[in-house]
Amino acid sequence: MSQLQRISLVPSQLQQEQILLTPQQQHYLGRVLRLREGDHFIAMDGKGKWWLAQLQGEKAQILESLTVETELPVSITLMVALPKGNGFDDVVRVCTELGVAVIAPVVSDRTLLHPSPQKLERWLRIAQEAAEQSERAFVPTILEPVSFITALATGTTSHRYICEARGNYAHLREVINQVSTTSEMIIATGPEGGWTQKEVECAIDAGFQPVSLGRRILRAVTAPIVALSIVAAQLESVSLN
Ligand code: SAH
Repeated sequence: MSQLQRISLVPSQLQQEQILLTPQQQHYLGRVLRLREGDHFIAMDGKGKWWLAQLQGEKAQILESLTVETELPVSITLMVALPKGNGFDDVVRVCTELGVAVIAPVVSDRTLLHPSPQKLERWLRIAQEAAEQSERAFVPTILEPVSFITALATGTTSHRYICEARGNYAHLREVINQVSTTSEMIIATGPEGGWTQKEVECAIDAGFQPVSLGRRILRAVTAPIVALSIVAAQLESVSLN
């Protein structure tokens, strides 16, 4: 099954047991992937549903729905201060591979980049491609960039952590180890220049616990990837046992 090609759908393309393919999808399936009439592929709605489908001209017939088990047991939101240049593209790609549920780009006091609206579209495309490549059931949600202070009010979970490069904080892994059950977790990582003192204080006031990712200072693009790897390893080694 995993060798089959995958495409993403929007809900309006589904009509009963049929998929109405867009001209781009027809081109992609027929010309790029060289699928022929009657060939099978996987259609995903990016919200957890996958179907085995069969190409029939401009449409596809749904043959059966598929079960996927590639999602993390906890929904992780990464709140990432936008790094310079195109560094955020890599954050989106790799964190999607690692299983992030929501990416919330934030503009902090020391953020140097103020993103253009086209960036969001680009990130969504990268997330979609990475989700397909990693056989994710969900395409992560990427929120519009907002200021860090605004973002602090996001979500209702009490499991919220802010990664701080300096200071004697507990390691994220130890902290996660003590979490028994939760369905949601938020992790914030700062920009190249780090968080300001005021931002860390505001985060603590909003219920964030400062945590360490180890003794070395990681780059702004490395920190979210490391944080997510730690959490994913911990959650999956618990749930797979
Ligand atoms: N220039 C800053 C460091 C910024 S690193 C300084 O010298 O202090 C960019 C972001 O990555 C930080 O804001 C933090 O969120 C995260 N980060 C990097 N290394 C970390 C570490 N060892 N522990 C926790 N967070 C870290």
